[in-house]
Amino acid sequence: MSCVKHPDETTRSVLATQADYNAYEAMQPRAPSPTPPELRNGARVKAADQRPEGVYLPNNNLLAPHMRSPEYVQMSTAAAMTLGIMPGRMHRCECTRCLNLLLTYPEGCRANCAYCGLARHREAERDYADRNFIRVDWPAVPVEQIVDIVARDPAASPFHRMCISMITHPRSDADTVAVLERWTRRIDPAAIPVSILSNPTTMSREDVVRLKDLGADIFTVALDAATPAIFDRTRGKGVESPHKWSKYWEILLAARDVFGPQKFGAHIIVGMGETEFEVLELVQRLVDLGGHSHMFCFFPEKGSLMDHLPATPRDQWRRVQLARYLLDYRGVRIDQMRFDDRGRVVDYGLPREELEGVIAEGIAFRTSGCPGKFREDVSACDRPYGDSPPSDIASFPFQPNRGDLRRIRRQLRIPVVRAEDP
Ligand code: SF4
Repeated sequence: MSCVKHPDETTRSVLATQADYNAYEAMQPRAPSPTPPELRNGARVKAADQRPEGVYLPNNNLLAPHMRSPEYVQMSTAAAMTLGIMPGRMHRCECTRCLNLLLTYPEGCRANCAYCGLARHREAERDYADRNFIRVDWPAVPVEQIVDIVARDPAASPFHRMCISMITHPRSDADTVAVLERWTRRIDPAAIPVSILSNPTTMSREDVVRLKDLGADIFTVALDAATPAIFDRTRGKGVESPHKWSKYWEILLAARDVFGPQKFGAHIIVGMGETEFEVLELVQRLVDLGGHSHMFCFFPEKGSLMDHLPATPRDQWRRVQLARYLLDYRGVRIDQMRFDDRGRVVDYGLPREELEGVIAEGIAFRTSGCPGKFREDVSACDRPYGDSPPSDIASFPFQPNRGDLRRIRRQLRIPVVRAEDP
């Protein structure tokens, strides 16, 4: 492990508050450390070859059992609690509306994305099934057990959506198909629609067509980086990782053709060194293609190559959250907005009163993602605390209340406009 002194969470958030945006120069990932050959590709898990017994709760003090997709998948802690296979409660949330599933193998993900807790460079430190991902642990569960529980009464399920997250692994394409088939064989996709969070690096257009034919509803590409330079630095050559910006766009455009308008999109992480103008330009491009953007606020994930860097300042995040919502759901265009010389939003392109209405509604500040059964602009994929701690919420997994909105306004530096104000 490199000897970088990692500022603790408080120091990082202090760092964050000092600059009101994360500049490109400040967001350089550290270099991945080489993994001893005897620890690569899940060698110790495969050598021990322990048989899994039902649900496996991540525990870095134990050697993980030998679990593989499509028999096993991992799921978010929120989904495990909502499914009733793990005890616990979430701060201010009853449940999550999305059953987020993740393919799993002892070899783990073969990519090395700098901000990700699952990345290959962590092989020496943690078995794949014990790595944290978007700030939480991901229990491993037999697919048949999950399907058994949900198939009892899909219409009454708390889940409005299921999502299969692919990783970079030789089996990933085939096992995504296998998991989808096991699900749709017993659960009607009309009752609980399915999203695919794809891994373009191993995919072709034919793979996209196949998933559509098997009943997938929405196809998303985890582009994550807002510019080619940040993509390369955080997911490509910069960190000895195989992903290419061009390949991600090839599959994204195939998804547009195959899944159609409003049924495809991209994940984007805000605060890895892009300007607000650059990320909103990308959002506008997706809107013009007929797709949606699903936003994540950069958080220094423990164990990642960026865990020494500041989380996205809330000022930057709120400006981008609001502007993205206006572009994606309110028909505003980026050329109606104004930006300062650092590419920060200074005008949202709406009359003050209209902007007031949008802010007061609060939906713009909720987690963005694939829709549920409430509204098109309310995400089922609420990812509770996936990009921020409960003490400083970035993406709200529930409707912000008056107190939350007061805080959001302070972060936006947009005071409440009263009727009598000039
Ligand atoms: S936003 Fe959609 S594709 Fe992305 S993780 Fe959520 S459900 Fe999956």
